Amino acid sequence: MRVATVNALKAAGIDEIYYAPIRAAGGAADAPARLFPEKKVSLAGKGAVKIALNIQYRDSFNGIYLKNLIEGFFISVCCFTSWNDRFAGGKLDGVDILSYDELVAKYKKGELDGVVFSQKDYPQSNQAAKQSLKEKGVGRIYTAPARLFHTFSLSVGDLERIFAPDGSPYQIGLIDISTTDCCNLNCQGCEYFCGLRNQDTEAMFTSYGFDAFRRDMEAMRRLLGDEVYQFSFVGGEPLLNPLLGDFIVFLRALYPYMDINIITNGLLIPGLSAELLQTIRENNIWLRISSYPPTLKKERAIRDRLNSAGIFHDFSPPIEYFVGRMSLRGENDPRTMFHHCHSKYCYTVRNGELAHCANVLKLDFFNAYFDQRLSVSAEDKIGLGNEALNKREVLRFLRNPSPFCRYCNTQARSVYRWTPASQPQSIEYWLASSAKEQGAGAAKKGSEL
Ligand code: SF4
Ligand code: SF4
Repeated sequence: MRVATVNALKAAGIDEIYYAPIRAAGGAADAPARLFPEKKVSLAGKGAVKIALNIQYRDSFNGIYLKNLIEGFFISVCCFTSWNDRFAGGKLDGVDILSYDELVAKYKKGELDGVVFSQKDYPQSNQAAKQSLKEKGVGRIYTAPARLFHTFSLSVGDLERIFAPDGSPYQIGLIDISTTDCCNLNCQGCEYFCGLRNQDTEAMFTSYGFDAFRRDMEAMRRLLGDEVYQFSFVGGEPLLNPLLGDFIVFLRALYPYMDINIITNGLLIPGLSAELLQTIRENNIWLRISSYPPTLKKERAIRDRLNSAGIFHDFSPPIEYFVGRMSLRGENDPRTMFHHCHSKYCYTVRNGELAHCANVLKLDFFNAYFDQRLSVSAEDKIGLGNEALNKREVLRFLRNPSPFCRYCNTQARSVYRWTPASQPQSIEYWLASSAKEQGAGAAKKGSEL
């Protein structure tokens, strides 16, 4: 039974829905022992391995669903945990909900064998939460792929994927599809360098054509199979690309159970065509709205339009601050910067190339506007058109820092309040604090495109 079916039953007023436990059969009973060999225990029954499930409270039903799947394998979900302390102290499905501090304390006392994040929930904030837990000493962090929420059974292979250590070859993470280089918002310090190019030409709105998109997605499928957690259409502003509807239909056919999002500033939503909204709904695409100050002014109109079209959506927490993290001299140690990078499991595809982040693929905009000479090498990206590429090479690339990480200071970022960009734009908004002192004065400010 699919989650959507259960939700529909609940919406129809049927509250008493029960799960038949999935009894481990045919050798599956020893799965926890294989997955947690360091426990060296005889796994005679439920409770030998204890885990916490991380949930976003909005998706608590997914938490219960996952709990039931996992407990069929004699692994005990002994608590839930939520980054939102408001929910700590409560119970879900009869199990305590802990704050992160309580979770860390329990883990350190040896009362927990690990924490499982659900990739069905908000993956971007999950990345930050995982990093924070790791920094506090919670080493065993796992992730349940989103596609498990489209099935009502769990195989030993699925279990092995959940309990593969974060960053293992089983887990490719999040792929952003850079759908356009344009944006209608023009934030100061845009990480996609949108405001640093002429935005007026039609070619800019369609900078990613359908044939290139199709080739890239087929290459991703060939190279990485089902292991990608989630695709997101990003921009600039992805709703500006008139081919977005075609992209959606193609990607959904290629990945029937994948989580697919559109990450948008939301400003175009009240005026979106009925046809595009229908395509979004029919293909089960989630709209994730970044809550910039101008977006929040239109929140009512955005919600009304999406609710009336029956589209899943959510708003991020308000975005009041941006960060600058670039170092013009490239003096940083790539390995250290990558280690501390919050977005190291999120990659970007654009026009035939795959890279760790959009900066690599759009650096020309930055260099041209500010008259800089930052360089991107062949080791910073992968050409998806290379037929000889194999999965091992792609994984090696994704798992390791790229030379470009030397231009990133993930440890000394500058934080500043969000503002709309003024012209000419100042390079200082992109720079990390340390680089700001060293380089901003010397950096030439671009005055025209
Ligand atoms: S909304 Fe996003 S893509 Fe658009 S200018 Fe702002 S940061 Fe850049
Ligand atoms: S350049 Fe490297 S360190 Fe910087 S955001 Fe990209 S992956 Fe992370």
